[in-house]
Amino acid sequence: MFLFDGLKSKLNYLEESQIEQIHQAYLFAMEAHKGQKRDTGEPYFVHPIAVASILSVMHLDYQSIMASLLHDVVEDTGITKEAIEHTFGSVIAELVDGVTKLSQMEILDHAEAQAESFRKMVLAMSRDIRVILIKLADRLHNMQTLHSLPYKKRHRISKETLDIYAPVANRLGMHMFCIELEELSFSAFYPRRYRIICNSVEKIRTSYKVTVSMIEDELRQSMAKASLRDATVFAREKHLYSIYKRMKDHKASFVDATNMYAFRVIVNSVDECYRALGVVHSLYKPVPGKFVDYIAMPKFNGYQSLHTCLFGPHGVQIEVQIRTHTMDQIANYGIVTPWLYKMEDKTHGSPQVRTQRWISNLLEMQQNTDSSLEFIDNVKSDLFPDEIYVFTPKGNIVELPKGATVVDFAYMVHTDIGNSCVAAKIDHQFIPLSTILVSGQTVSIITMTEAKPNPSWLNFVITGRARGGIRNFLKNQKRSEAIDFGRLLLQKCISDLGVDFENISPQIINEFLASTHFETLDDLFEDIGLGNRIAVFVAHQLLSTIKGEPGTAFGDIDHEKIAPLLISDSEGMAIEFASCCCPIPRDPIFGYLQPGKGLTVHRDNCINVVKLRRNPEMHVPVSWADEVKGLFVASIDIDMMTNHRNSLASIVQAVVSAESSVDDIQIKERTSSHSFIVLKVMIKNRTHLERVLRYIENVSTVAGVKRSNS
Ligand code: MN
Repeated sequence: MFLFDGLKSKLNYLEESQIEQIHQAYLFAMEAHKGQKRDTGEPYFVHPIAVASILSVMHLDYQSIMASLLHDVVEDTGITKEAIEHTFGSVIAELVDGVTKLSQMEILDHAEAQAESFRKMVLAMSRDIRVILIKLADRLHNMQTLHSLPYKKRHRISKETLDIYAPVANRLGMHMFCIELEELSFSAFYPRRYRIICNSVEKIRTSYKVTVSMIEDELRQSMAKASLRDATVFAREKHLYSIYKRMKDHKASFVDATNMYAFRVIVNSVDECYRALGVVHSLYKPVPGKFVDYIAMPKFNGYQSLHTCLFGPHGVQIEVQIRTHTMDQIANYGIVTPWLYKMEDKTHGSPQVRTQRWISNLLEMQQNTDSSLEFIDNVKSDLFPDEIYVFTPKGNIVELPKGATVVDFAYMVHTDIGNSCVAAKIDHQFIPLSTILVSGQTVSIITMTEAKPNPSWLNFVITGRARGGIRNFLKNQKRSEAIDFGRLLLQKCISDLGVDFENISPQIINEFLASTHFETLDDLFEDIGLGNRIAVFVAHQLLSTIKGEPGTAFGDIDHEKIAPLLISDSEGMAIEFASCCCPIPRDPIFGYLQPGKGLTVHRDNCINVVKLRRNPEMHVPVSWADEVKGLFVASIDIDMMTNHRNSLASIVQAVVSAESSVDDIQIKERTSSHSFIVLKVMIKNRTHLERVLRYIENVSTVAGVKRSNS
């Protein structure tokens, strides 16, 4: 009887009468499994008790606990569903029946069979979500005791767990559960890979710990300084399967996959989340474009958090997740959170409500699809919400992360196809290369031999492969880009001085090259394009060779007379927008050549420009084209009343409502009544910026807002 005492000690959240009913189920199941043994050699009954214990830790209701004790009775003993119904009532009988049906599904390699098991799973969930929770606990215990099974069975069960049960747990938001299932199946399915990663992690453990505690300390101190004294800061453990996945999915090396230090900050309110973000961004330099706001836009399973990446000390990358205690509970336990804590989320619905909604969607989908295969496709895209499946014209499946575009697809098929793609068709219709793909589409890519990747693609591609492919190509292209840019600059300067470059005789050019120690004209252009040599100066030198006069001094050059270089895109190889003043289209601007770096564009009234004007020879007149493409970073100063809750959250919400996004938050100053915040947002143009400012202004706790001076 001591076995029941062990379980009973975990049931103190239940009523006495409920515990008594559980005891009855316990006695019934023990009798039924009498004499049976597990593959481990233990009495079979150890298993249902373990499953019940797992569920009791999650504080599941007494009916689930009863059904978990009885879950293998129908399958493994001669007792019928009717008998259980007779003794324990229909609710328990239905739960046991649901689990039994799920257990009977054999997942074969055959896709149709897999589809069938997914279908069963959905049906079981739709009847009662507790069936799935019991099945997951059953699977967890089986995984924990997997070692006693023969290899073949171990292999099949762990694959099935990786393919179906872990994603289901993840879909239900049960992150802790999902991690444990993944780690167990990873070690069983890929024992060699598991061991190798495990050993490698062991080797770096000591140095890892030192870095972790250093960063942890810095984070804690900064939080305390910003009067976020309650903030909990801790390093997140690296899971071997996640390291493996990072290496596999992102083609990362072990060093790359583990050079990421992950931390979590837990605070009391949504507003504190954004304040903590400001603190973190002031402590370390954020990696541009890596900030994701899952608080304003929660994930499919209700997950909420702020994610950001930073450049840490000694060049390590730091990943920080910031969330409230409630968000943390939901992130870890998902659907079972309400059983743990009675909580409500008014804005996005409780995890249970969301799950119910998801399941009814699935059911509807099932009614609308004839074949199991089509259904599994739909379910899969739901279970693996981060993946889509599209087809090549030959019918091969290409797997891509959600949000992937035509260009991502092209690079996934082959780097050469990515590098030379010029257009694409989806289901025979021409579509832009930036189009985001949806599962099931057939994509054909049209390539041209002399085509090359456009740097602006980096704005929308999301796969590491496409990004890497484009960057790599551009790096090789850097010389030729620099040459083109240099040629453009020099030709412009020469024509501004009233001479047509084409009319200069090759002989004069060769003499000039010899005198300046350049082997080819391209070398000279490259040097100009990279900013090592100033086009105006070279132009004067060259022209003075023609006229046989000494070069004119820099001071004599009248920049006003030189037509400015037009900027028509936020992305370009040789142009950078200064982060000190964040120029946006239509701002009066000042171009400055930096040796080795190319052209930097500042706002005309930027304080740094005063200094730069002292080197007029580096000045390149620039101006905006009538229409400018791409997104620009704009900097906004906000004066916020501090003594209001959720003000930062409302500001972020306002930015999102104005169809912009936050690129960075920094808290500059904080008094008892006011906070001064610098917010960087992504905008298209001035009109867009004005809209963002207006929306922020309307937030009740904002005392003042304006674009940063520079
Ligand atoms: Mn079982």
